[in-house]
Amino acid sequence: MYRTVTCGELRLADAGKIVTLAGWVQRIRKMGGMTFIDLRDRYGITQLAFNQGTEAFEKANGLGREFVLQVVGQVIERQAKNPQLPTGEIEIDVKQLTILNPAVTPPFTIEDETDGGDDLRMKYRYLDLRRQCVRKNLELRHKMAFEVRRYLDEQGFLEVETPVLVNSTPEGARDFVVPSRMNPGLFYALPQSPQTLKQLLMVSGFDRYFQIVKCFRDEDLRADRQPEFTQIDCEMSFVEQEDILNMFEGMSRHLFKTILNIDLPKLPRMTWADAMKYYGSDKPDTRFDMTFVELHDIFHAAEANKAEEERFSVFANAAYIGGICAKGCATYTRKQLDALTEFVKRPQIGAKGMVYARVEENGNVKSSVDKFYSQDVLQQIAAEMKAESGDLILILSGDDAMKTRKQLSELRLEMGKQLGLRDPKKFSCLWVIDFPMYEWSDEENRLMAMHHPFTSPKPEDIPLLDTDPASVRANAYDMVINGVEVGGGSIRIHDAQLQEKIFEILGFTKEEAQTKFGFLMNAFKYGAPPHGGLAYGLDRFVSLFAGLDSIRDCIAFPKNNQGRDVMLGAPGVLDPIQLDELMLDIRKK
Ligand code: ASP
Repeated sequence: MYRTVTCGELRLADAGKIVTLAGWVQRIRKMGGMTFIDLRDRYGITQLAFNQGTEAFEKANGLGREFVLQVVGQVIERQAKNPQLPTGEIEIDVKQLTILNPAVTPPFTIEDETDGGDDLRMKYRYLDLRRQCVRKNLELRHKMAFEVRRYLDEQGFLEVETPVLVNSTPEGARDFVVPSRMNPGLFYALPQSPQTLKQLLMVSGFDRYFQIVKCFRDEDLRADRQPEFTQIDCEMSFVEQEDILNMFEGMSRHLFKTILNIDLPKLPRMTWADAMKYYGSDKPDTRFDMTFVELHDIFHAAEANKAEEERFSVFANAAYIGGICAKGCATYTRKQLDALTEFVKRPQIGAKGMVYARVEENGNVKSSVDKFYSQDVLQQIAAEMKAESGDLILILSGDDAMKTRKQLSELRLEMGKQLGLRDPKKFSCLWVIDFPMYEWSDEENRLMAMHHPFTSPKPEDIPLLDTDPASVRANAYDMVINGVEVGGGSIRIHDAQLQEKIFEILGFTKEEAQTKFGFLMNAFKYGAPPHGGLAYGLDRFVSLFAGLDSIRDCIAFPKNNQGRDVMLGAPGVLDPIQLDELMLDIRKK
């Protein structure tokens, strides 16, 4: 037997026992006649003690970090106890030491506070994963996936695997493709999600499906995006939106309770239109208020009474003027305000400038646009914003209401951060509902499906499909936690004709729709039940529970910002023979 106990389980009550342990050398301390080694495995750390004069002591002095050892010894009470460590009251008086494998010195320290930078840790990810703080994220991930399965199984869901080699389907992102050797010139695509397949499973009568499944999207990467990521993908038959929201609110409640011991209150619901109006975002961070107040009416009325040359042209011409009120921030210095202005002017945000106003002790409002507006107007603004003495009002304006709202949203989040209102240990969850069916794409010069082309319009909005498709709302919903979209889905179209019409509005010709989605529309002709579903991003869900900034830390082997796995050297070049076999002659270029 390699071991009788793990490095995490011995306590004072075990004193006197003879045990065998195996693990890695975390640290060696030599103190005169004694040598101490911290031995580590997945379960914890146990201190080994070696006494001068023993054979084991001699051997111990020749060890280095990360050697793999097996020791036999007696559990004894420690003299200097370590209350930080669950095993901190005992140590092992080692009688026998076997080196199972030596190790070269690792390129960074295997400690929570490591000296290794990102790149180095990614190159040696297997060593990085030895660090407790990284490993515990993967333990959390396992537990969450396990509880998801437990909950869904109890609700009668079946986990069904769908293929990874599929066909390209337009769902917003670029596909990763795989050349087919047996079908020269033809390509598989890796699924962006099993969307159409899970809908076919509903046609097959599976009724309640789920799958914890890898999905692939060839997009530009960010902290919360990886080219391959994991979804908790779900679909149900004979349901309305309400049934889905309840079922999956239940799943989230189960996860919060079993994993974090938090009782999740009933989730509030916010329409997409309100989310945009009050937070400038379809995934509002509702851990704090600071909601938008629209100010164009007051400013435009003030401008209307003025002579041309006295106007503040920025506001006079703006289609949208909105503000947020930062409680107690009237003390912000000029320097802090300039920094905020710089923040909103960064190209990623794109505002032209920022106007501010402080409500002073005596109730007077002092603003950066004092010369254009009377105290009376500024008081109206303060009243509209419910700003009180000591508060700071920040205002953005622009020609495009949606764009300006998004800029103001960034400013709101930044203020939330500066004021410590975005505590990762606090959770605020909600459903955002009633998304628009379509959004206009400047790039493609056409309407695009906001969720995906299989999403059902709200029945009462169906007549608008012919007259004003841009205003049609969808039976689509997202679950948002702390400003992160953790899940989203919709009630689907199950009627072949309506589906055809939607493809038409999206600009597909009949033939294109037939080639790409003929299989689905055909299936619908054979008795498709009403159905709907959603998918959660498991990586995002786990990183929220872990309080992480990036989803990378809860993925065992993530890719970097260039989509590369620096450890595997992927993506890599192919051998010319392989290229020939695949009929891919990239050398021609
Ligand atoms: N397939 C969708 C997605 O990946 C989720 C859904 O509608 O169920 O976003």
